[in-house]
Amino acid sequence: MNSHEQYMDKAIEVANSTKLNGGVAIGAVLVDSKSGSIVSVGGSMVAISHDPTAHAEINAIRKAAEALNTDDLFSLTLYSTLEPCHMCLSAAAWARIPRIYFGAYRKDVDETLFDIKGDFSDEEEGKRMNLRENIGMSVIGGINEQACAQLLASHYEAPHHLVRLA
Ligand SMILES: [Zn+2]
Repeated sequence: MNSHEQYMDKAIEVANSTKLNGGVAIGAVLVDSKSGSIVSVGGSMVAISHDPTAHAEINAIRKAAEALNTDDLFSLTLYSTLEPCHMCLSAAAWARIPRIYFGAYRKDVDETLFDIKGDFSDEEEGKRMNLRENIGMSVIGGINEQACAQLLASHYEAPHHLVRLA
């Protein structure tokens, strides 16, 4: 695998399997920027684990840090099927992840899906991040956008308590 679309396909695959396991269809993948190998994956486990911080990106970040035995993930690139929330964008900055690619924009998703949506753009916020020595964060959305947005469309009929915890 080597293209952004292929890594996003993997994130979509993770989102689908997360949904099958009772989570919400959001997936994240962390890739070694040099070798291109996948270091970790994560799904949104909030409703299952009763952990409001168990977003797909956070889960992938925790697993990668554990696997690599470091809190410095500067060598990795993050893929997420949905534009990361404030918490996940900040967690990526704390982990010094310099590149994020996401699929669906927050605006692509029905606003009733999220109680906390946030009127901000990750692409703009990323430019203001300073990871180290003036190295900023590059955030680019719209990778396989329709397929990623479609993942969450299937949750429109889900009980509100599940949906709002996405
Ligand atoms: Zn999040």
